[in-house]
Amino acid sequence: MHPAIHVDVVIIGSGAGGGTVAASLAPLVAAGKRVLLLEKGGRIDPKQLTGAEVESAALHYAHGGAHPTVDRTVTLAYAEGLGGSTLVYTGTSMTPPERVIAGWNLPGLSHADVVKRTEKFAAQNGAAFIPDELINENNWLFQKGCEALGREARQFPINVRGCKGSSLCNLGCPNNAKQGTAQVQIPAAMAQGVEVVTHAQVTALRVGGRGGILDVQVDGAPHPHGSKSAWTAGRYVVHANSVVLAAGAIHSPALLLRSGLTAELPAIGRFWTCHPAHILAGEHDRAIDGFVGHPKSFVWEERVEAERYFLESCMYFPFITAKNLTGFGPDHERLMAAYERLQMILVLACDDALPEQRIDIDGGGQPIVRYKLMPKTIEAMVRGTRAAAEIFFAAGASAVHAPSARPTLIERTENADLNTRITTSQFLPGTISVSAAHFMGGCRMGVSPRDSVTSVRGQVHGHDWLFVADGSLFPTALEINPYLTIMALADHVAQAVADREGHTLT
Ligand SMILES: Cc1cc2nc3c(=O)[nH]c(=O)nc-3n(C[C@H](O)[C@H](O)[C@H](O)COP(=O)(O)OP(=O)(O)OC[C@H]3O[C@@H](n4cnc5c(N)ncnc54)[C@H](O)[C@@H]3O)c2cc1C
Ligand code: SF4
Repeated sequence: MHPAIHVDVVIIGSGAGGGTVAASLAPLVAAGKRVLLLEKGGRIDPKQLTGAEVESAALHYAHGGAHPTVDRTVTLAYAEGLGGSTLVYTGTSMTPPERVIAGWNLPGLSHADVVKRTEKFAAQNGAAFIPDELINENNWLFQKGCEALGREARQFPINVRGCKGSSLCNLGCPNNAKQGTAQVQIPAAMAQGVEVVTHAQVTALRVGGRGGILDVQVDGAPHPHGSKSAWTAGRYVVHANSVVLAAGAIHSPALLLRSGLTAELPAIGRFWTCHPAHILAGEHDRAIDGFVGHPKSFVWEERVEAERYFLESCMYFPFITAKNLTGFGPDHERLMAAYERLQMILVLACDDALPEQRIDIDGGGQPIVRYKLMPKTIEAMVRGTRAAAEIFFAAGASAVHAPSARPTLIERTENADLNTRITTSQFLPGTISVSAAHFMGGCRMGVSPRDSVTSVRGQVHGHDWLFVADGSLFPTALEINPYLTIMALADHVAQAVADREGHTLT
């Protein structure tokens, strides 16, 4: 017999969604409820982070940060640990545009309400414009390039407290300056009595009756940083009156698919989007040193509504940069040798939420991602690449690396030919490096069980005890970085969970 644990509310996952729900539901503990958060990953001690690229990637990321889609055209980056992907996010803190939330057309979810909640979490996480001295040359060049072209780059808030400008955000902040659920919401929840168990993977969700039953496997091996689970290793069965699924937009749909609900909810796993992205590099004649300071500060999004892409200043480490530059041989070598002189821009495409873009499970029940780069997405990425090349050259770059150009290096003398040099016909999926880190959909909110999985309150259709509270709720892709919107939606869902538990959240 496996030990049986009985709780009022169990939350699965501790990222932007799960960590938020834990904090929002913490007042229930004082009202006599038992609230438990189960996290598959371990607790990472920032003091032990070295910034070493390969070691940090293995420590934080699933699949080393490159979970391939089934057709191997896109690699997916997400973290597993207490704090989820907020451990490795950059901290870009944006509120969603009204047209996206209005376009969801969900009665009971207004843009004003979402923004109000994002503002609450932005304040909790200390999101603010970073001071000029932390904005490095790489970011200023993006802003100057835009300005020279008559485009307005917007500075965005970053959620840091005491940032030392080490630029290591995507490898986990060694200075504990970046604020995520591991720094803010989970400690607040624990202080109020929410139980948090790490190394605890929910392997199955059994559906039936008035509550949920979870099979949980606790890993006894200590985390490389020494943290261990609060529970002894082994299998547990958790009975909960309310279950909140917040395992992220890959694992939440996978758990639901494993639970056998697909016949009644055919939309599980479907309408999945990820903001496919290219890391682009422009070579300058002088050192840029983009790896000192904070990595990201500006976005240019004036064309996102019409052209479905947006650009952000960015900086990536040598290993990721090498992986993301298309091609091999002398051109690749030339750019890597110029690493200190590289300016970088991230192109993100707003992909359509389509039923065939989906999370599925393999024979062993593990998630697989059936995602195809569609012609409209490729067109958006190509338009974005051209726009980025213009910014690089306007900022003074001598050459630009464009994945959808052959040869991929475009010299300054070819500046006038960007439309013919960068083309969709040269965007060959599988030969071009595309990565993604903004997973949205798979358990989308909606009105009908025919094309959605949950209600606008995150309650799974037909199962009032089961909730979803993470990026998988999104009906369509946002046009900005998503973490604050995920927190806002998770907070909204927490209110529905509290209602079910007979408690009103203020
Ligand atoms: C490198 C990188 C940079 C990013 N930068 C930004 C940014 O600057 N701004 C922004 O807005 N967004 C950014 N994002 C995206 C943002 O981090 C995510 O959208 C957000 O964290 C997703 O929240 P979530 O709750 O859906 O999932 P996650 O945060 O991924 O959390 C899911 C959690 O569930 C756990 N879990 C999974 N399965 C199980 C299971 N079976 N049992 C128990 N636990 C389980 C996982 O271990 C994980 O901890 C970035 C992402 C990455 C990877
Ligand atoms: S730049 Fe700031 S937030 Fe990012 S890792 Fe360094 S100290 Fe942390």
